[in-house]
This record gives sequence, structure tokens and C-alpha cells, in this order.
Amino acid sequence: MDVFSSPAFDDHEQVLFFYDRPSGLRAIVALHDTTLGPAVGGCRFWPYENEHEALTDVLRLAKGMSYKAAMSDLPFGGGKTVIIGDPRSLRSEALFRALGRAIHSLGGAYYTGEDVGTRPSDMDWAGQETPYVLGRTQGGSGDPSPVTARGVLLGIKAAVKHRFGRDDLQGVRVAIQGVGHVGGNFARLLAAQGAQLTVADIDAERAARTARELGARQVGCDEIVGVEAEVLAPCALGGVINDQSLARLSCDIVAGSANNQLSEPRHGTALHDRGILYAPDYVINAGGLINIAQELRPGGYDRARALAHVATIETTLAEIFERSEREGRPTHEIADEIAEERIAASRRANEGGLPEVDAVAEQAAAG
Ligand code: NAD
Repeated sequence: MDVFSSPAFDDHEQVLFFYDRPSGLRAIVALHDTTLGPAVGGCRFWPYENEHEALTDVLRLAKGMSYKAAMSDLPFGGGKTVIIGDPRSLRSEALFRALGRAIHSLGGAYYTGEDVGTRPSDMDWAGQETPYVLGRTQGGSGDPSPVTARGVLLGIKAAVKHRFGRDDLQGVRVAIQGVGHVGGNFARLLAAQGAQLTVADIDAERAARTARELGARQVGCDEIVGVEAEVLAPCALGGVINDQSLARLSCDIVAGSANNQLSEPRHGTALHDRGILYAPDYVINAGGLINIAQELRPGGYDRARALAHVATIETTLAEIFERSEREGRPTHEIADEIAEERIAASRRANEGGLPEVDAVAEQAAAG
């Protein structure tokens, strides 16, 4: 399996493979860029078809975390873990404790947390072996999903305001792909604001439950991207905006929680050319990172402070949308540019000195 020549490889600092025979753990950890501080990024547990697919996912996700932290003004770098396997059959305390030992061996260069397929209680298990775990139920900030959902809601408000000049979501049609931890919470928030929802999930029963609870319409997974709506909200896995789906889109805005929504950057350009407003994924879905990162701040986790920081997602997106319109360039390009410039500026400032965030990492490890 090629790492350095993988199309998803983008100057990643470290890519590590971990194996634990007794528990069956097979994990890949990727640290993309730690210029701004220790890497932070969740752990995805997924039955990847093969190792190549898992590697591509972890490389892309880790890079997204570097950009997410930079865009959220957080002193952290980007990293991610993927566990290869089906969480329904492989989840165990032994597996997550083995993962915890693997994370610990990185000595604080990387903090993990929950992501697709993992739960806060898994982080409690991993946390028995290492302090470098965020989002624990015991003594941590817990499930980040409700906070991520709140950030996505604010992002949609910014997009609707920009596109339609309105401040409310009453009657706005939103098609949600994936009603799991984030999508489910987000659907409830939208329903409370009077939005008109269509939902789909590969877990059809989950989609049906959400539809019943919120009076939403349920459609099949193959239909959701083509549903006529003001907003398409991808809240499942990545790559949903691709050559096939582009032709079927019937929305004005793409804004959701999923990471890596664009299959390739050129698909962001295609959205722009079609007049579809895209909320860059790592900006709109930063609520969870902002929330768990609070645990590493001096004084520890403070939900009110986390929510105040999450509120900045709305203004950050509004600025990106305005700049995109002014400069006639796609939103994903503008977000990438801002994130890359922030990382480069920090690299220049750090030259010859220790990053100030070392102190944050030391404090977390001690506490
Ligand atoms: P989750 O596993 O709880 O939910 C994902 C849902 O999508 C599940 O219900 C799953 O059945 C469904 N799904 C998967 N493939 C699908 C498909 N092709 N069509 C329709 N439904 C499909 O995960 P989550 O924590 O809600 O995360 C959702 C997305 O948001 C992921 O991309 C994740 O990386 C991203 N994200 C999550 C957080 C967080 O706080 N949990 C933060 C930032 C980004």
C-alpha cells in the first residue's frame, strides 16, 4: 500500500499503523500538521472494504482537521484515527484500551475523541490508558454531536441569509442525508425553527423514527441528493458531492456536518459554477472540535465558553460567502486559503521558538 504516493497524502507529518492481536485492533493514525499545536481529531470505526480505503479516509480527515482548527482559531493541529472493522462485532473494552495505549505512545502529539462509529463511552475505555483522549463521559465534555449540530444550524442560517436575505428558517426545505448523532440532533433543531424536512439514512428504521418524531418526509438513500430543497445537508460520510451527484442536485445550498463532502476540490468549483452556495465542511462542522478543545484550555471545559466560540461559525461563514461573491471565487478555495495562511503565519512565528501551545499540552497531560 502506497502512503507517500497516495493522492490523499498532503505533506502529512506522521502516519502510524497499530495492531493488537488479542482485541483485533487494526488502526491507522495520521497527523497532518502540528504547526498550530498538538493534533486533535476523532476516531472513526468503520468496516472499510480494504486498507487502501481506510488510509485514504484517515489522510483526508486528518488534513481537514488541520484546516478546521486553523479556521476556528484554535491552537491545535490536525490528526485522525480510523479503526478498520465493524463496530457492531468488534467493539470491546480491550480494543479501546489497546487504542488508548497506541495514542499514549505518541506522547501528547495527538488527542483523539469520538467520530462516526465510536461513542463517548469508548473514549472512557481508551482514557483508562492515556490522558490524550477528549470527550469522555467521565470528567470530559461528553458527546460533541449536539454542539456540532448547533454549529451546523448557525451555518445554515448564515447561508440562507446570504442566499435569500432572510433571518429565519420557517418553511425552508432541508434534505438531510444521515440522521445519526449530528444529523438527528440537527433535524430536531431545524424542526423547532419551522424548517420543512426530508430525511434519509441507510438505517431506514432510524430515518423512519426521526421522520415520525418530527413530521418529516422520508426518502430512500439513493433519492436524497436529488430532492428539491433550498438546502441539502450531508450529515453521513464524505464524497457526496461528486460527478454523479452533481447532475442530480436540486438545491440552492449545500451545508451539513459531514467531513470531506467534496469528492475532489474541483467539485466545489462545479457547485460555484452552478450557483449553489457551499458551506465549506470544516468550517460549518467545527462545533464538535471547538467543544472538545475547550477541555485543553486553561481552567478546563466550560460549556458556555464553548457555545460562545461555536457562535463564531455563523460570522466566519458569512465572511467567506461575502468574499466569494466579491471575488467571484468558490467558497472552498477561500476557506482553504485562509486556513493555509494562518498555518503558514504560525510556522513563520514559531521559527526559532517553541510553540506556545506546548504549555497547553503539558498542562493537559499533567491534569
Ligand atoms: P453517525 O455515525 O452517528 O451518523 C451518521 C449517519 O449516517 C448514520 O445514521 C448512518 O447510518 C448514516 N449514513 C451513512 N452512510 C449513509 C448514506 N450513504 N446515506 C444515508 N445515510 C447514511 O455519525 P455522526 O457523528 O452523526 O457524524 C456524521 C458526519 O459528521 C460524519 O461525516 C462526521 O465525520 C461528521 N462530523 C461529526 C462530528 C460530531 O460531533 N459527531 C463533528 C464534525 C463532523
